[in-house]
Amino acid sequence: MSDSMKEVVETLDPVSRRLIPANIDSGTLVPLKTTLELRDNLSLGLAYITRAPTRYTNDIVTIARALAGDDAAKNLPHLRRCSKPVDLPPHLKSQFMNEGNGRTIHTGKSNWLYILLGPKDELPYDELLRGLASVDGIRDDIFIGIVPVPLLAPTSQVQANLWSQQFWQTVYRKNNPLGPHPSNICRTTSVVSRDASVWMTLAHQVARKSRDAGLGEPIGAVIIKRTIPGKFDSAKNEAFKSERSNSNVTQGSLATTEAAPGDMPETSTSHHSREPRNNDTIEDATGSDTSGPEQEAKETTQIVALAGDARWYQQEKVGRTGNPMGHAALRAISMVAQKLVRTENRAENTPDIMEFEAFQDGPLLDHEQVVFDAEHPCPDGYLCHDLELYLTHEPCVMCAMAILHSRMGRIVFRHRMPLTGGMSSEDRGYDICGNPTTCESGPCGGGRGLGLHWRKELNWSMLGWEWETDTVERLIVDPHLHA
Ligand SMILES: [Zn+2]
Repeated sequence: MSDSMKEVVETLDPVSRRLIPANIDSGTLVPLKTTLELRDNLSLGLAYITRAPTRYTNDIVTIARALAGDDAAKNLPHLRRCSKPVDLPPHLKSQFMNEGNGRTIHTGKSNWLYILLGPKDELPYDELLRGLASVDGIRDDIFIGIVPVPLLAPTSQVQANLWSQQFWQTVYRKNNPLGPHPSNICRTTSVVSRDASVWMTLAHQVARKSRDAGLGEPIGAVIIKRTIPGKFDSAKNEAFKSERSNSNVTQGSLATTEAAPGDMPETSTSHHSREPRNNDTIEDATGSDTSGPEQEAKETTQIVALAGDARWYQQEKVGRTGNPMGHAALRAISMVAQKLVRTENRAENTPDIMEFEAFQDGPLLDHEQVVFDAEHPCPDGYLCHDLELYLTHEPCVMCAMAILHSRMGRIVFRHRMPLTGGMSSEDRGYDICGNPTTCESGPCGGGRGLGLHWRKELNWSMLGWEWETDTVERLIVDPHLHA
């Protein structure tokens, strides 16, 4: 074990330290792409523009804002509101110069501006016209033009420059509307890569144990809780303070508040206004050692759940499906849930005894038992809120959605499952099963990757990585298998 790895192991919780093998193989984290990042992000729409002497622009912008409403997207924040005639793209310049009083407006001394009003589909034309007619300086000669504009923000300065020449003055605000913010990925990758090998090693270990015990396929899952002292505590304290000041609330209702739709773990959002704050708090947490005991607290990680695949447990091994409730990710999430429940109802903990348990979420292996018996390090908050999941295989679509619903903060997996996985966004080939002639369904595969880790419409996003390694034995499963 390398010195740096020894250092990492020293900071682990006792349970993990007890389970890890002597040799921990290293790997590299490769961030997952989102579906949007892999597709063309130039989606064009039409926008209304007008022109007016400079002193009326405020009035006109107010009218346009009132019509578009508060929805940020409708106000096209990546496009400049006002543009001097000389700054218009050449083709618009020559077009508008020849309309109405364009000639005088496009002279060097002109104090007129072109003003972007908003997306054509969002602004009722009649109301817009009525609004503009109330502005003294343009009432007699209202100009309304329609121009194509990019509806999504650019992802680079180069793209912004290009769009400014092609469409309308475009501003690059250093954000990424197509996925997590690059600085967020960068920062979190360096945090996670410190000990990802430890958790992946444990996931591989439990996967092999499960297979060897005949419980399931060689697939394993580990869930951990990472605590970055400054960041986490301050966020939590704020949440508690604001809750407490509102009313006498219980932890239960706090959990509900945290899980409100649209809420996202701090590290996985790209809410740009929050970026600097995250930076600050992380720097605070890792800053100088000289300023009191609070700053000395180090980042800690604790294992919360460990589960191998158990799809063949109490099942005859026919076909390739088995019990879907025995998938490693589902079992691990359920074990987290049981720990939370255990903390709440310690007194009345009487397990039901059933002949056949569809939910294979009790510990079956000794290592699973050890982790299961340890208390949840932080038994508040919603299910897997802000936890990290390490998997040997890309989870199937069912598990991917369960992971999303559990509000997992981060996910790392090793083997892609191109036919059945739910996290990768890349298009799927038609020859993935490697046996296109003998496969029972003929050539199989094809279609778009789902990229479920980052889909805006699903109300929850998490950062995801593939873990690449040359040194760890591959855990080979049937390509048609749902992991
Ligand atoms: Zn699954």
